[in-house]
Amino acid sequence: MSAAAPGDSARHVIAVVEDDAALRRALRTSLRARGFDVREVATGEEGVVLAADAVADAFLLDLGLPDIDGLDVLARIREFSAVPIIVLTARDRQADKVRALDAGADDYVTKPFDTEELLARLRAALRRAPGGPPARTVVQCDGVEIDLARRLVTVGGEAVHLTRTELGLLEALVTNPGKLLTHQELLRRVWGQGYGTESEYLRVYVAQLRRKLGDAASSPRFILTEPGIGYRWIADELAAPPQPGLA
Ligand code: CA
Repeated sequence: MSAAAPGDSARHVIAVVEDDAALRRALRTSLRARGFDVREVATGEEGVVLAADAVADAFLLDLGLPDIDGLDVLARIREFSAVPIIVLTARDRQADKVRALDAGADDYVTKPFDTEELLARLRAALRRAPGGPPARTVVQCDGVEIDLARRLVTVGGEAVHLTRTELGLLEALVTNPGKLLTHQELLRRVWGQGYGTESEYLRVYVAQLRRKLGDAASSPRFILTEPGIGYRWIADELAAPPQPGLA
């Protein structure tokens, strides 16, 4: 695990695009208390301009904005920027979350959200961002070793045979630690561009992967199911030591 050194977050600028002044203030307070610099705007147009300035290392983007819809802001930013974006939404409609993730959001939190959870997701998104630590080719967690370059997986020191599809799925998850990958994203990545709605394939293959890794859907150590949305690789999060400067 390539944990950032305490104090590293001081370099990070977080952009907050949110029209609710009280929530902006609460976010500003929490983020500054963790050593982040904060830039805030209240409209979608200003959010797009802020992204174009390329000063922020990550965005917290409200979906319900007064001028343009947050999903449109997301789409416009994605035309020119790969900056990590976590969507804040009061909407509990599954479809909005999936649309945001498929449109390029890195993650989402539903209001009212737990600040610690938001910060954990923000740190995960920053770790994955370009310029972050290089991607590992060997992942070790909780008795499982995954050598992505050699396509070897061992569990408790014993080699485990995975099919090509299982390996593809595992690679997609492991190389995006902490990131919620939608059904569509996983299907397109592993099965190909023509796929996207065959969630039942994922259910079958994720179940096989879990069985081979010794994981369980009911008490996941590696793969977390986000019902109706997708899957998330959580092993790094669980194995990571506490980060006093960031937590
Ligand atoms: Ca709003």
